[in-house]
Amino acid sequence: MTREVSVVETSADPPRSRLSPSAAPVFALGAAVVVLGYLLVTVAASVPAAGRELLSDLLTVPAAASLAVAAGRRARTPSPWQRTWQGVALAGLSWTLAEGSYAVITHLLQWVAAPGLPDVFYLLAPVPLAVGLLRVPVGPVVPGARLRLLLSGLVVALGLFFVTWSVVLPAVTTRGTSMLGRVVFTAYPVLDAVLLTLAAVALVRAGPSTRGRLALLTLGVLCYFGADGAYNYLEALGRYASGSVLDVGWIAGYLLMALAALVREPDRPDGADRPAASADTRGHRADQRALAVTSVVVYLPTAAAIAVAVSWPGRLADPVLVVTGILLLVLIGLRQVLLTVDNGRLTHDLEDQVVQLRRRGDEFRQLADQNSRVVAAVAEGVFGVDPDGRITFVNPAAAQMLGRAADQLVGAREGRVLHDHEAVPAGAGCPIGLALSERVPVDTVADVFRRADGTTFPVELAVGPILLGDRLSGAVVVFRDVSARRAVERMKDEFISVVSHELRTPLTAIRGSLGIVASGVAGDLDQRGTRLIEIAVRSADRLTRLINDMLDIERIESGAEVMRFAAWEARSLVEQAVEGMGPTAADHRVEIVVGPVAGTVQADGDRIVQVLINLLGNAVKFSEPGGRVEVAVGSSGAEVVFRVTDHGRGIPGDKLETIFERFEQVDSSDAREKGGTGLGLAICRSIAHRHGGRIWAESRPGEGATFRLALPASDPVPGTGSSVGTVAGLV
Ligand code: ADP
Repeated sequence: MTREVSVVETSADPPRSRLSPSAAPVFALGAAVVVLGYLLVTVAASVPAAGRELLSDLLTVPAAASLAVAAGRRARTPSPWQRTWQGVALAGLSWTLAEGSYAVITHLLQWVAAPGLPDVFYLLAPVPLAVGLLRVPVGPVVPGARLRLLLSGLVVALGLFFVTWSVVLPAVTTRGTSMLGRVVFTAYPVLDAVLLTLAAVALVRAGPSTRGRLALLTLGVLCYFGADGAYNYLEALGRYASGSVLDVGWIAGYLLMALAALVREPDRPDGADRPAASADTRGHRADQRALAVTSVVVYLPTAAAIAVAVSWPGRLADPVLVVTGILLLVLIGLRQVLLTVDNGRLTHDLEDQVVQLRRRGDEFRQLADQNSRVVAAVAEGVFGVDPDGRITFVNPAAAQMLGRAADQLVGAREGRVLHDHEAVPAGAGCPIGLALSERVPVDTVADVFRRADGTTFPVELAVGPILLGDRLSGAVVVFRDVSARRAVERMKDEFISVVSHELRTPLTAIRGSLGIVASGVAGDLDQRGTRLIEIAVRSADRLTRLINDMLDIERIESGAEVMRFAAWEARSLVEQAVEGMGPTAADHRVEIVVGPVAGTVQADGDRIVQVLINLLGNAVKFSEPGGRVEVAVGSSGAEVVFRVTDHGRGIPGDKLETIFERFEQVDSSDAREKGGTGLGLAICRSIAHRHGGRIWAESRPGEGATFRLALPASDPVPGTGSSVGTVAGLV
């Protein structure tokens, strides 16, 4: 839809009015007292005519002035309603001048001449008010709506003018009213009718937030209209007297309009109240409602005018009526043309929209087709669940892996199909339940699914919740059968374990024999022979270490290695590790400095000493001779953190994580030159994980490295302050 819609600006935070919040109720109460009082005086009490006239003047002037002041104050605050209040304030001012001059001329100067100066002000007032009513911010404005509204007002006005001129005025022409007088008296109801039409249409278009003030404005105009109509008729007959019940229409009219300016409502265009529909649709809908109202209002006076013309065809000789009639017909025609054009445009827009929607529908269908083909082609199992855990769709791979037809699965509870339990268990136990309850994606986790025949298979799955804005519409689960991979892994582990064991026995024998040869028991060796034997011994030692490490890591990761947890003072563990590393450090001429050590951990002491020895061993290995290695322990929340720092070559940033993987080294020459296997840190991480702890490295290359091991803290060891655990031996 290409049509432009002008949207009246919304002030998100309405400017604060200078009026106190209690102004409107107090004013309303005062106004009610004034109106009732006036009614009582004029109807019930037998007050002399002069007194009633005075009372009428005393009330109409301030009532009109209150309108000018109330609207004037609102008009000073910038807001979308500012122009409206400016129009109302000007109208109020004009009415104040009209009422004031009427009081002075008629009652003080006793000068009875109608039309006169007050009529100028009376007739001027509706002009700014009409402009103000046309400027009421009504949200999205459909192009042409204002013009149509104005035309409708003019048609109503001319229709009324026609009727008034032809029916009411001939009745009073006997008084010899001048042509000017006839025009003036006819102009009053006509202008009032325009005002009433504009106010009523603005009220119909208003949203809930501005309906109150517009209702008061419309009611005020209606009261004023009633009083004006009666005044004109009586004045034309020469029977009007100030101070009658009739004057209450003006007083109440002014006060109601003033009250409208005092009512505190947010200055928002009404469109803002209905965010669901598009601005354009909203504009059209409000416009259609306004159109329905104006059509009824427009055709009533027109019908009356036609009835008059048909009933008294003789009156049509009056040139004023002829001109008015022609003008009326032209305006009705113009309005109709506008309506037709707009309807045509609307129909065209709607057709456009339908075409676009259809095209978009086709695109969506294509996209949906494509998506379902993609999902169907995926080799992994994919299925969706609703927020209650019921399966909503299944791809062929998932159906095949689960051994069921897709339509058997759709609609069933996933827990029942996959695990043979009914409800979606929320929380850590079930990844799907967790994703649905916490609305977070759950990344690859291991689980076991059940097939239709009752057999189970291991899977790895990932779950993503589907959120539409704030609303959870379900989750999508992607899984893969990992039984084949698990079998291969098991075979590999068994192979490594068997090979390691099988290698260890002959290797021990070789190492032993080499040791004997090296000691000279089997005869003296020349220098070259001794060197070759030394190399063979070093290589056998390295191979033994490698095999031991491999068996170690296998045992820890498979859980075969049982951890014996106890409360250990960190100091005790550090002391054992430093003691174990003493000779190596001395060999490398590196000093190990123990810093502040505090805290107690729940741990398998042997394994933690093993980790610390590995960290200290690396730190010593990568320090220059004469260097320092520091070790310290501190508590941090529920954790106790061990720290080993060296000042060696450091570790590049991209290797800080990978060095914890098996056989990963910063430099491929490290194994050769520094004698490592690349398994030490992998073992350390496995041990840390088995303890529920963490291990990581930090480094600035060239300035050394710091390794930290965080373990769950334990309550301090009671009594001595030393360890209650015992160290079986150092590894
Ligand atoms: P290795 O038996 O090779 O020492 P680790 O797993 O203990 O095996 O260490 C892996 C690699 O991490 C080492 O080969 C070395 O490249 C790097 N590394 C470990 N500690 C340090 C350190 N303190 N300074 C520099 N590099 C280190």
